[in-house]
Amino acid sequence: MHLDDLYRQVIMDHYQHPRNQGELPDGIRVDLKNPSCGDEISLRLKVENGVVSDVRFEGTGCSISMASASMMTEAIKGQPVETALQLNRLFRAMMKGEDVDTDALGDLEALHGVSKFPARIKCATLAWQALEKGVQPNRE
Ligand code: ZN
Repeated sequence: MHLDDLYRQVIMDHYQHPRNQGELPDGIRVDLKNPSCGDEISLRLKVENGVVSDVRFEGTGCSISMASASMMTEAIKGQPVETALQLNRLFRAMMKGEDVDTDALGDLEALHGVSKFPARIKCATLAWQALEKGVQPNRE
């Protein structure tokens, strides 16, 4: 199997069976849109003692935006906020086409190919933008 096919399967799996979907009534809520594609995400976060203790999302949009959100929730759940932000930096560097240590990214590496399609990068980074807003609510 080609690596591209494997990546496509990982993306479709997350798109069709999104992880950590749903509400988190007492969590931080961040709603974001990507108008260029029509993606919408509502990210819910709970941060306790500097750790992302729970994270969920709801949304509609293309396979890349939804798969990225699903993978992100898996990657950051239970992690310290600092680790989540470090993953955010790594993921964004990968989207810029930089050479990054993809081991730390897990399934997110499947989105590597998106970096070649500038119009879709916003789809892939939408959930991460929401994360940044959620954990740094005082920063505009
Ligand atoms: Zn999209």
